[in-house]
Amino acid sequence: MKRFHRRQCFIGGLWVPARDGAVMDAVDPSTGEAFSSISLGGPVEIDAAVQAAREAAEGVWGATTAVERGRVLTRIGQLVLEHVDELADLEAQDVGKPLTQARADAVALARYMEFFGGAADKLMGETIPFLAGYTVYTLREPHGVTGHIVPWNYPMQIIGRSVGAALAAGNAAVLKPAEEACLTALAFAELAEEAGLPAGALNVVPGLGQGAGAALAGHGDVDHLSFTGSVATGSAVQTAASAAVVPVTLELGGKSPELVFDDADLDRALPFLVGPGIQNAGQTCSAASRILVQQGVYEEVVARMGARYDAFRAGPALDDLDLGPLISARQKTVVEGFLDQADGLRIAGRGRIVDHSPEGGSYVPPVLFADVPPDHVLAREEIFGPVQVVIPFEDEAEAVRIANSTGYGLVAAVWTGDGSRAMRLAKRLRAGQVFTNNYGAAGGVELPFGGVGLSGHGREKGFESLYGFTRLKTVATHHGE
Ligand code: NAD
Repeated sequence: MKRFHRRQCFIGGLWVPARDGAVMDAVDPSTGEAFSSISLGGPVEIDAAVQAAREAAEGVWGATTAVERGRVLTRIGQLVLEHVDELADLEAQDVGKPLTQARADAVALARYMEFFGGAADKLMGETIPFLAGYTVYTLREPHGVTGHIVPWNYPMQIIGRSVGAALAAGNAAVLKPAEEACLTALAFAELAEEAGLPAGALNVVPGLGQGAGAALAGHGDVDHLSFTGSVATGSAVQTAASAAVVPVTLELGGKSPELVFDDADLDRALPFLVGPGIQNAGQTCSAASRILVQQGVYEEVVARMGARYDAFRAGPALDDLDLGPLISARQKTVVEGFLDQADGLRIAGRGRIVDHSPEGGSYVPPVLFADVPPDHVLAREEIFGPVQVVIPFEDEAEAVRIANSTGYGLVAAVWTGDGSRAMRLAKRLRAGQVFTNNYGAAGGVELPFGGVGLSGHGREKGFESLYGFTRLKTVATHHGE
């Protein structure tokens, strides 16, 4: 078994400590205890990483053919698949994800590398009919150096969808993982090195948001930034990037609704109402955190969801239960702050924390609230914890009004036996992805994903993502008739 042991910055193909020798702890959220020490990069390391990426973009990596780029990415994907178990163990310890969920993230990372590896040589321009005597075509060129600021909730998946697409399109990347979740980012770099990715094409700088993150966001020599995380930080990143007019893709949070109509197939819907709400202990940007249910089936849905909640168990990641801990004591405090505002709400179901869970772990039992007014803080704001709210509605118009009322717009789902209604609502719902009679935001590397409003802008996943990591050049030649 391979043991991923790299704990330093990866810059220009070398593993280097922070120049000032600074380090930070990797903390296991299941116990609250530090288990490893990681180099703490800052502005100096970011600057070195951007320079290394620039050299790669204008040198060896920039000269690498699309077919060879695709081969390297596919090799990375194969190596990821060969090491799924070690990656899952590492992630489970580092972010508290139950092993099954961590394993699914590693498999998704491999899938992203396969998808983008296969797509690298299929990214084409167009010819455009124009005036007589002209030939006009477009070229899809890489931006050059791309910056990737990644959160802690799905490190492997977000690295796959963001860095994978950027590399496939021919960019050289600088990756700043979240301070709470650096280890699989470093493991990914180890595998990329082993797969033969040229030095400088991928650089990883573990560091704090205010340090390395802000330095990357405000670095004048980055050509594109991809940010996933909170609305406040995304807005700060966009502001910092604006000084050098750097384009930014923002994947922010959500308050995603599922609409359940009286004519829905409840047996089919039930697992999809609850699962996407508590997966990863609710720390999912596309979590189905609001369940809107029509009056005719309302009490039945509440009772059946509540029964599932009562059976949920949270505990250490290695126990591989329904839920692990939250990422940190800080996140636990945030979620408990929301729960403090739940006074008077009807609790329809609540899971439990298993007895042997360590004292220092950041555990929160999952809880389902029913009859929640649409304007209640728990129904409006992203909680990022294992909390779902159920809201009743009378008719289609009211359901759409409530669904579209939060300012967010990431994902939505409609459960109905009426095909016309499903298609009608798919148009009316304000979201980057709409699912009818399913809920699949977590999967689907092929499906463009991203938000509207407070959920951000730009699309990742699918071919759309590759377009986002290129810039279009128009070439018009006058050759006469
Ligand atoms: P965050 O947005 O602060 O952090 C995300 C990433 O941004 C991390 O890598 C962090 O180091 C970096 N960062 C922080 N400050 C920065 C700055 N000034 N400039 C550049 N980069 C910076 O998220 P968080 O503090 O880890 O979590 C807070 C909330 O964010 C959560 O409660 C949740 O609501 C939300 N969140 C959303 C997602 C998502 O996928 N939509 C993911 C994680 C967190």
